[in-house]
Amino acid sequence: MKLDRYELAWAAGFYDGEGCTKLASKKRSGGGTREMVRMVIGQVRKDVLLRFKSAVGGLGKIYGPYEQANENWQAQWVYAAQSFEQAQAVFALLWDYLSSEKREQAEKCFMGIRKYHKEVGKWEPKKCFWGHIGRMVVRHNMLHGKRRIMRRCLECDKLRMRKRRAAERAMIAKGL
Ligand SMILES: [Zn+2]
Repeated sequence: MKLDRYELAWAAGFYDGEGCTKLASKKRSGGGTREMVRMVIGQVRKDVLLRFKSAVGGLGKIYGPYEQANENWQAQWVYAAQSFEQAQAVFALLWDYLSSEKREQAEKCFMGIRKYHKEVGKWEPKKCFWGHIGRMVVRHNMLHGKRRIMRRCLECDKLRMRKRRAAERAMIAKGL
């Protein structure tokens, strides 16, 4: 990734004025919702968003153009970094140049999403890591008498075992 500090400073200033970051809920295919961090900048001119995107090493995506509610307004393009990892990476690049207001906004979202991830791990073990609903794999720890519900469904586990056995067979076939 080639980064230009001048462009990063410009990008941070641009985001300060035009962008925002919030927690958004998205419907899951398996039912329920998923919380995510969404960093967005809406803009009538696409070229400015392209400059922003390249300043942050190509992270994020540009969507649109979207028609506006008022027909006198020009259609908008939207730059978005909408996963925890991606938004975090973009913020890491811009951080030194950002205003404290935007830093606080981002920190609140990241804290919120960490809390959400913890809660999902605790309260929604009926969904596996890939969003499948069903029975999860339960791992028993004989030594400590504890049982732990994994975030992997039985289907995913079967697939994993099948892959592992195939790999083992391949090794045997090779005479290893
Ligand atoms: Zn699964």
